[in-house]
Amino acid sequence: MDHLPVFLRLKRQPVVVVGGGTVAARKVSALLKTGAQVTVIAPAVHPPLAAQATRGALRHIAATFSPEHLDDAVAVIAATDDAAVNVAVSDAAQARRIPVNVVDDVSLSTFIFPAIIDRSPILVAVSSAGHAPVLARRIRAQIEALLPSRLGALARFMGERRRAVQRALGATARRRFWERIVSGPVAGRVLAGDESGAAHAFGRELLTSRVTAAPAAGGSGLGEVYLIGAGPGDPDLLTLRALQLLQQADVILYDRLVSPQVLERARRDAELIFVGKTHGEHGQQARIHELLLRHARAGKRVARLKGGDPFVFGRGGEELEALAAHDIPCTVVPGITAALGAAAAATLPLTHRRLAHSVTFVNGHQGEGEALPDWRFFADPQHTVVFYMGLTSLPEIVARLRAAGAGRDHPAALIAHATLPRQQIVRGTLADILARARTRQLAPPALLIVGNVAAFAAMADACGFTTAAGTPALAVGALA
Ligand code: SAH
Repeated sequence: MDHLPVFLRLKRQPVVVVGGGTVAARKVSALLKTGAQVTVIAPAVHPPLAAQATRGALRHIAATFSPEHLDDAVAVIAATDDAAVNVAVSDAAQARRIPVNVVDDVSLSTFIFPAIIDRSPILVAVSSAGHAPVLARRIRAQIEALLPSRLGALARFMGERRRAVQRALGATARRRFWERIVSGPVAGRVLAGDESGAAHAFGRELLTSRVTAAPAAGGSGLGEVYLIGAGPGDPDLLTLRALQLLQQADVILYDRLVSPQVLERARRDAELIFVGKTHGEHGQQARIHELLLRHARAGKRVARLKGGDPFVFGRGGEELEALAAHDIPCTVVPGITAALGAAAAATLPLTHRRLAHSVTFVNGHQGEGEALPDWRFFADPQHTVVFYMGLTSLPEIVARLRAAGAGRDHPAALIAHATLPRQQIVRGTLADILARARTRQLAPPALLIVGNVAAFAAMADACGFTTAAGTPALAVGALA
């Protein structure tokens, strides 16, 4: 190691920053977060620094640097664009054995600034020792995405309870207890923002640990379920929370619509169970409920991963009911539903001030005798209708729209495998969309979008949505 990573406590400590530009301002704002007493040395400073000085957040000495400015300082940062000044600051600091950082110059520095991920009190610092700052920043971005935003709240929640746990449990039991807390529903509650639910579950866990010999790790019987929307297919369209929970889950129950690319983002050693339905048969849903309950009761963190959003034609509500009936905690993570993914992929706005004022998502595969909505409303081209599961019933849908008053030229678009490398976009009208779909041999999953917006063509060349495989989706769209 070229440097030892340490975390400096700077509260009320004098720190000198030489330089008054934007780089200096960035360093100053990081220093101020720690409560340091910052003095800026520069003949003139940028307005934000001047404003901070006026407010009393820092002291500004309007002068060129001289070594006496370092008297009493515990650290110094040189952030000027004058190489000679930077060298002078470095020399003066090292002569006085004060740690010094010269921005972007490792050779003149005795300490360096890492890229920081701040979930205070949790801090992650990344450094390339000056070799590749851009790489360090990229790594920071990747870690940022993985760490829940409420991680700091979890650390505080645990910190506030350390004493109580110390009093209640012996050393070995304590470690096991905390491991169960961080990997179980208590942490899940805190991260979901439900502190009172977490506090309640924490109390129960502590009580159990006191009255029983510590249960084996993971076997406390307090599992939980994450009902996660996996989005339309492109793994980059997962939400950050979906990704975080996929990294935690012990067991993952996934649907047919969940793409292999998404599954690759799961924890490497998670148990993957396929529970896809071919025609939504009744027995399969019961089996899913049974699997969810069984694994959660065994203390597992179970991810129920569904294509799109769990609450849009996803039977998420039924699974939630089944879990609630057995008091299994559940976190719902929304996903980008297929309609939104497909609309973006086809650069087709679902509403538009001139073209459409409302949008409806409909199940295009309605069984006989089901209460049907009023199709006269769907036949109005100022209203956008997105049919899910409609490919096999396409002829009936077209016929019903026509019967309800839609014209032959009523715009229609079909988007299959939206956001995936196999994506296909077919545009047309109610008169020809069937024939076009046949010619192009569209296969499910696909969405039908009808209404004025389906003919929307602006930007078609300018703004390409790029699919996971890097093929510009619009090359296909432009054909139709
Ligand atoms: N919960 C899902 C919908 C499940 S119903 C969601 O929110 O998206 C299944 C239907 O969704 C399919 O028949 C198809 O109409 C649509 N669908 C799902 N993924 C799709 C994709 N990548 N491209 C096009 N349509 C898709």
